[in-house]
Amino acid sequence: MKFITDGMCGGLARWLRLIGYDTLYFNTRRKIDIIRTAEKEKRIVLTKDKKLASSYPEFVFYIEGENTYQQFREVVKKFNLEIKEENLFKICSICNTKLQDIEKEKVKNLVPEYVYNNKEKFSICKKCNKIYWEGDHCRYIKERLKTL
Ligand SMILES: [Zn+2]
Repeated sequence: MKFITDGMCGGLARWLRLIGYDTLYFNTRRKIDIIRTAEKEKRIVLTKDKKLASSYPEFVFYIEGENTYQQFREVVKKFNLEIKEENLFKICSICNTKLQDIEKEKVKNLVPEYVYNNKEKFSICKKCNKIYWEGDHCRYIKERLKTL
């Protein structure tokens, strides 16, 4: 299952990526671009735009939640999304690119020293060059997910 979120749902996109779902974020007024991409790539559109949702009811869904967390809960329930430990942190939460493992030695000058000294596993987004590691924010996200 793949998604597109629009302008009002940027936070939702980041959460869906965190749990491993390929999610594009289109912050555009040109709704037709969203529709075309969704049709071409067989994606589900999540939007706060009621009119858009009623125009393409087969694959565009209106999201009621007012904040990111409410929206995320709503989508997980509606589409029965799986939240599995092994799927977390596989996709860059910023640009939706698949993360790749990277050897510890290679990130030495790219991450803070205390991180380098305390963590063993790192991954990288080859598109925006962001380095990821299992950290405290990781634990925070897992705790939030548990309350779902
Ligand atoms: Zn990225």
